[in-house]
Parts: sequence; C-alpha cells; structure tokens
Amino acid sequence: MAQVLLGKEVADVLTEELAERVAVLKTKGVEPSLAIVRLGDEPDDLSYERGALNRAEKAGVKVKVYELPRDLSQEGLEQVIREINQDDSLHGCLIFRPLPQQINEGKIAELLAPGKDIDGFTDGSLLGVFKGEPSGFAPCTAEAAIAILKHYQVKLSGARAVVLGRSLVIGKPVAMMLLQENSTVTICHSRTKDIAKAAREADVLIAAVGQAKMVTPEFCNPGQVIIDVGINVDEEGKLTGDVDYDNVEPLVKAITPVPRGVGSVTTSILMKHVVEAAERTRD
Ligand code: NAP
Repeated sequence: MAQVLLGKEVADVLTEELAERVAVLKTKGVEPSLAIVRLGDEPDDLSYERGALNRAEKAGVKVKVYELPRDLSQEGLEQVIREINQDDSLHGCLIFRPLPQQINEGKIAELLAPGKDIDGFTDGSLLGVFKGEPSGFAPCTAEAAIAILKHYQVKLSGARAVVLGRSLVIGKPVAMMLLQENSTVTICHSRTKDIAKAAREADVLIAAVGQAKMVTPEFCNPGQVIIDVGINVDEEGKLTGDVDYDNVEPLVKAITPVPRGVGSVTTSILMKHVVEAAERTRD
C-alpha cells in the first residue's frame, strides 16, 4: 500500500502561514487582493474559481472577479488588463486559459504588469523559473507539485525525476524546478519512444499529460513517488487523473490521489503568490 499524499494537509499548512502574513499586511493598511479574469462560463474555470474563492476566504485574501463575455474582443480584454494594471488595490491577476480563439494570448501576457503575474503567464515570470531566480511567480500548478514533494519530505537532490508532459503551464516549469532541487530530470511527451520504460526508471514521476489513466503499472517501480497533475473525466464520467490509480497505488511508495491531490494545493499557491505580490509593494 502506498502512502497517499493528500493535498489538503499541504494546503492547510500553507493557508495557516498565509493568514498570519495577511494579518501583518492588514496592520500596515494593505489588503491582499486578487483579480480573476474569466471569459465565459467554462466548467473548468468555474470549478477552479470556486476553489480559489474558498481558499481566498480562508487566507484572508480579497477577490474581484471580472466576469466577461466569451466573445469579448482583443481590445476589450486589453482594456480590462490595463485597468487591473493601474489599480493599486489589486496585487495579482489570474487570467483563465486557454483564452478563446479571437484573443492573442501572447499580447495579453505582454500587457499584464509583471508584478501582478501571479500564475507564471508572462515571459518574465517564466524566465525566472528557468533561471532559478525568484523574481516573478511560477505557474501555480507546477509549484503545487513541488510543494507537495517538499511537504512530505521526498528526497529530490540526486533523485531521478521523470516528467510526463512538456506544456509551458506544467511540464516545462516543473522540470526546471526539479532541476533547481538537484534532481536529474527527463521530460517525456507524445513523441517519446517507450515512455513506460523511461517512467519506470523514475524515483519521482510527475504525470501532466491530460490522458485519463495513461500511467499503468508498467510505468512504475516500488520505490516511486507519483504526483498526478492530470484532471480528466473517464468513460463513466468520473473525475480521474493521468494515473490508473486503482492498479498503480498498490505498487508504488507514495502517490497523490485525484481529486484531493495537486488541485487542492494549487489554489493555496495562488493565494501565496498574491500575498507575496502584496508584500513586495511594501518592500
Ligand atoms: P497540455 O497543454 O495539453 O499538455 C499535455 C502534454 O502532455 C503535452 O506536452 C503532450 O505532448 C503530452 N502528452 C499528451 N498525450 C500524451 C501521450 N499519450 N503520451 C505522452 N505525452 C503525451 O496540458 P497541460 O495544460 O499541461 O495539463 C496537463 C493536465 O494537467 C491536464 O489533465 C490538465 O487538466 C491538468 N491540470 C491540472 C491542474 C491542477 O491544478 N491539478 C491545473 C492545470 C491543469 P506534446 O507536447 O508532444 O503534444
């Protein structure tokens, strides 16, 4: 039986620390505030938003939601981002992605004030992740995966880490963060030959492919720690990760479940970034 790495435990510790930092900020007249920009009512966005609002309340972070039409024009969205940039009472801005087709995502990223980019959206933030410098903020999900590993004291220095997926939101940043922790990192993707063999070598396996139950027992070894980032719906309409949990869990050392794993920590990291952004305005 594997150790089940529950996200809630990590999230609660983070939130408790944050509530103390928020209290200090409030004595200085600063109320950490997050702007959420949502175009339309995509179910994934709404579900993330609910989690973020819940976590914000626990941490003492104020949230302003910009509910915008899904068919908003580029100019319309740019106007909203300019408004957020200029509003000193807002310390961070989360823009739900992917944005609809009519929006040039790169231009929106260029426009967002780097100090308010609390989800690793801008080039400046990503450069910080790749250089291993804490100048900006990493994408929250990538940082959540690392936060879980650290909370449960998984040895990363010298560990063989395999990351499944190479997106800019998760795969690439999480690989760079593992490298920063002195892991030896392999990144796999849809063109990787014999991906199960590569994964089987891992002490730490990060699954971020968006393919329900792709990670089967042949990807695993008994000493392995698995972080399942995937959020998918299986053929029965049930929420599932990238790991075939029922068959893999008995074979590995530790594993995050889906739900109750990475997703629960992501919103806490989001709040941590908002609080840090607010603290930076006082430095
Ligand atoms: P993405 O942009 O679609 O990237 C998926 C990556 O997986 C790509 O690099 C792709 O390879 C690779 N891939 C896809 N199918 C593969 C296969 N059969 N074999 C090997 N590699 C394969 O997805 P993402 O945004 O990184 O998200 C990944 C997962 O995380 C999704 O399930 C998403 O819902 C979930 N997610 C979770 C959270 C959370 O808080 N837990 C937050 C955000 C996203 P190529 O590059 O070669 O195409």
